[in-house]
Amino acid sequence: MQTLLKLSLLFVCMSLFPLAAADEPKAPRNVILMIGDGMGFNQLVSARYLKGPLAVENMKHMGVSHTHSLSSHVTDSSASATALASGYLIVNGEVGMHPDGTPTKLIVEYAEEQGKWTGLVATCRITHATPASMVAHLKSRGSEDDIAVQIAQSEVDVILGGGWDKFLPGLEQKNRLDLPPLPIDTALLKDAESLFASFRDHRERSMPVTAEVPLLKNNAPYGTRTDGRNLIGEMTARGYRFIRTGAELSLITSGPPGKVLGLFHSGPMAKVSEGRTPSLSAMSVAALKILSQSPKGFFLMIEGSQIDWGGHANDFDYTQNEAADFDTAIGAVLRHLKDNDMENETLVVITADHETGGLSLNGHPQLALGMEPKWTTTSHTGAPVPVFSAGPLAEQFLGIQDHERIGRRLIEAVVGSRVQFRYPPSPPSAPTAMPPSRRF
Ligand SMILES: [Zn+2]
Repeated sequence: MQTLLKLSLLFVCMSLFPLAAADEPKAPRNVILMIGDGMGFNQLVSARYLKGPLAVENMKHMGVSHTHSLSSHVTDSSASATALASGYLIVNGEVGMHPDGTPTKLIVEYAEEQGKWTGLVATCRITHATPASMVAHLKSRGSEDDIAVQIAQSEVDVILGGGWDKFLPGLEQKNRLDLPPLPIDTALLKDAESLFASFRDHRERSMPVTAEVPLLKNNAPYGTRTDGRNLIGEMTARGYRFIRTGAELSLITSGPPGKVLGLFHSGPMAKVSEGRTPSLSAMSVAALKILSQSPKGFFLMIEGSQIDWGGHANDFDYTQNEAADFDTAIGAVLRHLKDNDMENETLVVITADHETGGLSLNGHPQLALGMEPKWTTTSHTGAPVPVFSAGPLAEQFLGIQDHERIGRRLIEAVVGSRVQFRYPPSPPSAPTAMPPSRRF
């Protein structure tokens, strides 16, 4: 009897101090979310046709994401990126906002609350749907001038991509000359090409480099804003360093950390097949170098933006090259984490916001490769998309999940504990509304 009592006491003690507590997975210090816009399974297979086995195939865990939105079985990029960034489904075309106009709390805001540094990297305009949805709250993704204002007023530490046109006034704006000059070192421009050639793989290097004519006069960028605001000037006044070339980007990462705004084209960055500089890999690694100096870790979103545009254009080469380039960036990120002993403290999640084009890879015996790509639409589809994960809490992303659930797991990884997702929030209880019997 006494033995039984002792055993029972031991059992009670074990229940009070469960062994599981010691085994609970540690929250990651850093969280990296990489989004291949429009990247379904077949877009990845297309990249494999070009490169052979992909860098993403080194990821330890794999799951499947069911993408959709509050208004449709088929999501757009802003609703999907908001699902990933907030944990909530919203209406297509809206950015970081519930249907009633209440802002959704976004992953960048959660990260900042934790004292983590944050970064956004994309090959589109940085005001485009996916990067915008990490940080902005707006009724329409089309209001990119307003998105630029919200980005300019945010606390994001590293911003790299295209689209200075939305940050600067047009040439015709009268007050433009009164604005502070932009710190651009023209000597660096000449070196940009040779410096960043090293970041490209052999396939990119063999392609001719053509450049669109950006919005520049006397080497000073101008934009398309009609309100006369120079948001780049406003940001540099708040302590951001503004850079515009790959060469400047490589120099900035060797200096002390600080907030960086890198806008490398007036509009979207060039296609990878037309010599995009700096490359997505270079931007991703530069962002990692800066953010890894954060004392409390970081959240970084990296988007391969133009896989989607290849799909919209039903352009197989475009899609294939952009998907391959995104995979090259994945390889560069994984290598950087490994080389800098950051693998065990960094959660990496790689997924897509939706599939674009309904790409199928049909057998065709008459063609050289025995395959003919076929598209079923120039829009997005509801096809499931892959999810790859590695690092602490990577197992949270296994199996099939709705993409807003993936967003919730990402936010919890950033916060380091369970988060209550309740929307709409229950109204505050009013004492007068309570039944008399419940009053005390
Ligand atoms: Zn799209």
